[in-house]
Amino acid sequence: MGLCDIHVIKDVLSRHGFHFSKSLGQNFLTAQWVPERIAAECGAGPDAAALEVGPGMGCLTVELSKVAGQVVAIELDRALFPVLDETLAGCDNVEVVHGDVLKTDLAALCREKFGDKPVYACANLPYYITTPAIAALLDSHAFQGVTVMVQKEVARRICAPAGSSDYSAFSIYVQYHADARILFDVPAGCFVPQPKVDSAVLRLTPRETPAVQVQDEKLFFAIVRAAFNQRRKTLANAVSPAFGGRLNKDEILELITGCGLDARVRGEKLSLAEYGRLADAAAARLAAKATSPE
Ligand code: SAM
Repeated sequence: MGLCDIHVIKDVLSRHGFHFSKSLGQNFLTAQWVPERIAAECGAGPDAAALEVGPGMGCLTVELSKVAGQVVAIELDRALFPVLDETLAGCDNVEVVHGDVLKTDLAALCREKFGDKPVYACANLPYYITTPAIAALLDSHAFQGVTVMVQKEVARRICAPAGSSDYSAFSIYVQYHADARILFDVPAGCFVPQPKVDSAVLRLTPRETPAVQVQDEKLFFAIVRAAFNQRRKTLANAVSPAFGGRLNKDEILELITGCGLDARVRGEKLSLAEYGRLADAAAARLAAKATSPE
């Protein structure tokens, strides 16, 4: 059965009385080369497992079942379960579980279903949860690789280098945890219903150790978030909320220049390494202040 064939999709879905839900981000693939390429390039092999988010009608699930030893797919929409019973009949190494990827303990699920096998996450992600879903997949530390289709602009933003207009706090978050690269673009015409924007498939390879070693990870991300919250301000003005009033403006300026940065620099120009240096200098300064008598 060609699960990306528009006639097959319409026939199967109408027999099951299924209607697409926009609010669940249901845009199904109609180009067979896309799930084939995702499965071929996701890194999973016969000795590994694949965890899929949002199988829909199962076009990617079937391709994953051919390359991976075992596949578990999490689907939120119960209306798709009778459809998947039909389309995945014969895929003996696949299990579909009901759940919301954002409310699932992914590390526990992988341990329960796959034991010690290496696991690769794959998905044509629903647009409405792209960012939290990627964060949940990376935060779980359960995957050797994460291969996901997202909106093209989001993919560009995630991979953006320091100083580019696409560079954001989320670029830094993802690049801190993983090596990120775009595998290929997928035009909007490859889906039903057709979305307004093109997509791209991203390959995230989680790092064994973060891209920069910092003393205080929470402080590092607080500084990054503050810097991008107020992109138009200079770094010194923007990051001040990250210190909760514990450092005054002169102290912040001193930190910035002490790290070899221009006092008027904007946050979007700083690399991960520069944010790391700034966060470590701030952590040291805050620690010294906490122990010195007033
Ligand atoms: N994999 C199919 C394909 O490529 O044709 C469907 C992809 S469609 C973009 C997204 C799928 O994710 C839908 O099946 C939708 O029901 C499911 N979904 C939406 N929100 C979800 C959530 N929070 N957790 C798990 N699955 C979800």
